[in-house]
Amino acid sequence: MAMTKINEILAKERFTKDDIVFLLNTEGDDRKTLLAAANAVKIKVLGNNAYYRGLLEFSNICAKNCFYCGIRRDNKKVERYFVPEAEVLNAVEYAYHAKYASLVIQGGERSDKQFVSQITDLLKKIGKLTNHEMGITLSFGEQSNETYEEWKSVGANRYLIRIETSVRDLYYKLHPEDKQHDYSKRLQALAELKALNYQTGTGVMIGLPFQRVEDLAEDLMFFHDFDVDMVGMGPYIEHEDTPLFQYRNELWPKSTRFDMSLKMIAILRIMMPDINIAASTAMQTLDKLGREKALKVGANVLMPNITPVKYREGYLLYEDKPCLDEDAAECKSCLEARVHLAGDRVAYGEQGNSLHYYRRINQIP
Ligand code: SAH
Ligand code: SF4
Repeated sequence: MAMTKINEILAKERFTKDDIVFLLNTEGDDRKTLLAAANAVKIKVLGNNAYYRGLLEFSNICAKNCFYCGIRRDNKKVERYFVPEAEVLNAVEYAYHAKYASLVIQGGERSDKQFVSQITDLLKKIGKLTNHEMGITLSFGEQSNETYEEWKSVGANRYLIRIETSVRDLYYKLHPEDKQHDYSKRLQALAELKALNYQTGTGVMIGLPFQRVEDLAEDLMFFHDFDVDMVGMGPYIEHEDTPLFQYRNELWPKSTRFDMSLKMIAILRIMMPDINIAASTAMQTLDKLGREKALKVGANVLMPNITPVKYREGYLLYEDKPCLDEDAAECKSCLEARVHLAGDRVAYGEQGNSLHYYRRINQIP
């Protein structure tokens, strides 16, 4: 019996760009075959473990002006905040006792001295409070090599910086073309983080204005060729107080953006079986069961929000962000039920470091 095209592609050692475009365009039975194949790879290589990272949205103060983002510098409607140290430590203590075992601390991009040392001090205190037992991911955009080094020396061991799109021309349709938003600097930041032995994560938005399916195929090849340890990607969602909002009528429907995101996760899981892939909050925004659907097709990381509720309204990167009024405990029980629905278990107490990272640096986990 002749092999169908989908099975022929899935049997390959390495996908070509055309293969990836074909997979991204699958519908019906072919789509189901793809998603099931991805789940099988995940279960075989990583088991059915879902790892938690308590997500702290530390501050919405940002020096940059990305055209898609609700907290960009020029959005004067946003009231700016940072979470004071005592409240951060409270939230961390909660996560620690709830056995999340990892944290993600994220915020707007600032590189002034005061900010850099504020984060350094915070990391020291978090280490003390948690007996240095938690995995710590930072996500504060582009920083100097010295800053990355300093933060690593006080306990950060992972860093997330999305390339947003791997296609240079598209990058400049999403960002001002100036020194502060330089595509090559973004790439350099990723390379430096890797060289400093951070577990290095990146990602893209899916369904951006001007983005084509071919561009998404390029993104997946970029993750593979750059040999990243972790990926967090999800649908682009418009925000009315941003420049890209003017293109809202030219976007793929939200259901298409969501489905493309699922297929992106599935294909990536097959291409890079041992990396960590997050089920992003943006997926849940577009589909109530978005995160569990992501787990079912290859994602293995979830980020329950531990930001104190009163700051959540301030961190609206896009419209309709979920869980604005759920405190950390409510978030926890709601998520756990969702993980079980997807057939996974929550790996409480385990850091869930990227297996790919250990292989890359030649260490046994
Ligand atoms: N300032 C840091 C981290 C915070 S922004 C940085 O930019 O790296 C975190 C991520 O939110 C961004 O990388 C971007 O991919 C995502 N994001 C911003 N605006 C968005 C939107 N409108 N829709 C979907 N994701 C968005
Ligand atoms: Fe700032 Fe990050 Fe938003 Fe860009 S995406 S405006 S860097 S918070």
